[in-house]
Amino acid sequence: MSRKIRCICPQCQLPFDAKVSRINRAEKIGAPLYCGKVCFGLANRLKNPPTEAERKAAKAEYDRQYRERNAEKRKQSHAEYFKHWYAQPENRAAARAIRKANMQRHVEYCRRPEYREYKRGYDRQYQAKRDYGEFAEAALMLRELKDEVNNIAGEAVNLDKAREKANERNRPAGEIPDRGQPETGSLGNAE
Ligand SMILES: [Zn+2]
Repeated sequence: MSRKIRCICPQCQLPFDAKVSRINRAEKIGAPLYCGKVCFGLANRLKNPPTEAERKAAKAEYDRQYRERNAEKRKQSHAEYFKHWYAQPENRAAARAIRKANMQRHVEYCRRPEYREYKRGYDRQYQAKRDYGEFAEAALMLRELKDEVNNIAGEAVNLDKAREKANERNRPAGEIPDRGQPETGSLGNAE
């Protein structure tokens, strides 16, 4: 039987008997010797354990980074899962029901002037990128320029029409141009 020596536990401060081999090993690696697992565990707890809020924040940050690192993999696996899920007729029916239930609300959403304005810009950008690639920016600018010109031209046309109408209203009675109407005067003058 190996010899035991009485020691004092640095955690609970109580005496305990330890084998000489354990004492030697502890001395060799410079580690304190505890009376048992419980004191070892208590002594190795963090002195300032993080609060629950801190742990949650750290986990959230870790998750964010994980999602970023594995974006491609996650996208693929989500797509695969969806394909599998959507292959079941009852799931397709459920998705259809949700779409149908939301349709009225969605239509109203899309009709809002601010959405139409946003969508118009989005579509233009999408089409420009699709059709002109790296020249998309230039294509968009050209399109806006054309719009501007059309607006000015349209205003000019409207102005012309307005001017014409005003002239017609202000024209003296005698100057009504002959538009092929029958001359009322000749009959009315016949006595
Ligand atoms: Zn102890």
